[in-house]
Amino acid sequence: MKQLWTSAAWMHEGDRGTWKHDVRFTIDDDGRWSAIESGIPREQARERGAEIHDQPAIAPLVNAHSHAFQRAFAGFAERRESAQDDFWSWRDRMYRVALAIEPDQLKVIAKHLYRELLCGGYTHVCEFHYLHRRKDGTPYDDPYAMSVALIEAANEVGIGITLLPVVYERAGFDAPVLRNDQRRFRADANWVLNAQRDLAGYREMYGERNVLIGAALHSLRAATTESISRIVDAASGPIHIHIAEQRAEVDACLLETGMRPIEFLARQLKDRSPNKYGLQFVHGTHSRASEIGAAAQLNWALVICPTTEANLGDGLTDVAAWLDAKVPMTIGSDSHVCRDWREELRLLEYGQRLTRERRNVLAAPERDEPSTAARLYNAALSGSARAAGLDSWGFHVGARADMLLIDTSDPALAGVPTEHLLDAMVFSSPCKPFASVMVSGEWVVQREIDETDTDIKSEFASMMRTLHS
Ligand SMILES: [Zn+2]
Repeated sequence: MKQLWTSAAWMHEGDRGTWKHDVRFTIDDDGRWSAIESGIPREQARERGAEIHDQPAIAPLVNAHSHAFQRAFAGFAERRESAQDDFWSWRDRMYRVALAIEPDQLKVIAKHLYRELLCGGYTHVCEFHYLHRRKDGTPYDDPYAMSVALIEAANEVGIGITLLPVVYERAGFDAPVLRNDQRRFRADANWVLNAQRDLAGYREMYGERNVLIGAALHSLRAATTESISRIVDAASGPIHIHIAEQRAEVDACLLETGMRPIEFLARQLKDRSPNKYGLQFVHGTHSRASEIGAAAQLNWALVICPTTEANLGDGLTDVAAWLDAKVPMTIGSDSHVCRDWREELRLLEYGQRLTRERRNVLAAPERDEPSTAARLYNAALSGSARAAGLDSWGFHVGARADMLLIDTSDPALAGVPTEHLLDAMVFSSPCKPFASVMVSGEWVVQREIDETDTDIKSEFASMMRTLHS
C-alpha cells in the first residue's frame, strides 16, 4: 500500500466534476485506488509517509480509438497529388503502408505511439485492430502475431490496452469479397471470437485491468449482417464499430437497405442486446437527430476523433445534440495525426464555433456547466470505462490508480488559478505534456528524469527510414 498527496485534484462523479484541495490518495497492492480523501493537511500526509506533489492532479482519459500502424503514416499524406483528394484517396495511400508492415515493425511503431499517448494524457488505448495477416494474405504461423505485437508494446511502455480484433470480410455492401489490397485484414466473426478466446492468456500474464480483449466490426459496409448479429450475441467486452464517417458510406447504406446507418443497425439489432458495455459508435459524423435519439435510447455510446475527422475531411457532427441526448462520449486519436487529448477537445469545440459563429457552444450554463473544457473532459472521462471494457475509471475507489500531474510552471499555465486550469490546458496552446503520468500505481512518465524516450524514439526513427525507403 502506498499514499500520495497532491495540492488539488479534479474529482468527478458521473459527467460532473470539481476541484478539491489537499487530496490524499491511497493505492492498494493491486494498483487500485483504495481511498481518496480531500482536506488532508500537507504536513500530516507527509508525516504519515505520503509522497508529496505540489502539483494538481487529474485523471487521464482512455484513447478510445486507435489504429497504431497509421502512426507510421502521420504527415505522409499532406500533399494533393490529383484533382481530388478525399477520405478514399487517403485510404488507398494508407493501404500501401498497411501492406508493408511486419509484426516487429508494428511493435516499434506502437511503442513509440503509446509512449506519446501517455505523455499526451491517455493511459489506456482501445486498439481497433484489423492488420491480421501476412503481406500475401495468408495467416502468420502465430495467427495473432500482429495482435501480440500491440499487446507487448503496450505492456513494455506501461499503457493499458483493450485490443479490439476486427471483423473485416468484404469491400462494400455490393462487394462480397475484399479488394486485393485489403487481403491482410480478412477476418470473419469466428476468427474474432477465437481471437478473444486465444488471447485471454495475456490478461492473466499482464493483469486483467491492463489487457482487455473486446471486439470490433469494421463497418456496416465491411461486415455482413450475420456477422454483426453473431458478434453482438457472443462477443465479450466492448464492441466498437465505425459508423457514418463518410457521406458516401451513408448513401451506400441507404441504397442497399433503405435506411441510414444507425437506423439500420437499430432495426437489425432490435431483438438483441449486446453485453453490458453496449456498442461504441466510432465517428457517427453524419447522424441525424432521430439517429442520435435512437443511439441514446439504446444506450449506445459515441467515440469521436476530432483531429482525424478534420484531417480526412469527414465533416462535423452536431456534438451538442449528442451531449444533450446524454449519449456517453469518448475521444479517439484514430490515425494519430495528434496524440494529445487537449488538442482533440479544443478542435471539437472550435469546429462548432466556426460553423455556428458563436463561442463556448458546448458549455451548458443552464446545467451549471459554464466551462466548455470541463464539460468535454468530464464527458470523455465518464465514457472511458465502458469504451475500454473496465468497470470503473478515474478517481474512484476500486478503479486502476492512474493519474496525471499538471505542470503549473508551464508558460501556458503561469498565473492561472486552479479553477481555470482545465480551460487554459485546453484553450491556451501550446501547452507542454503532463509532468508525470501514473498507471496502476506506478509512475510511467516523469518528464524531468526520464530517459526512456531516447531509445524508443531512435528505434522508431530508424524503422521509419526502412519502411519508407
Ligand atoms: Zn478508425
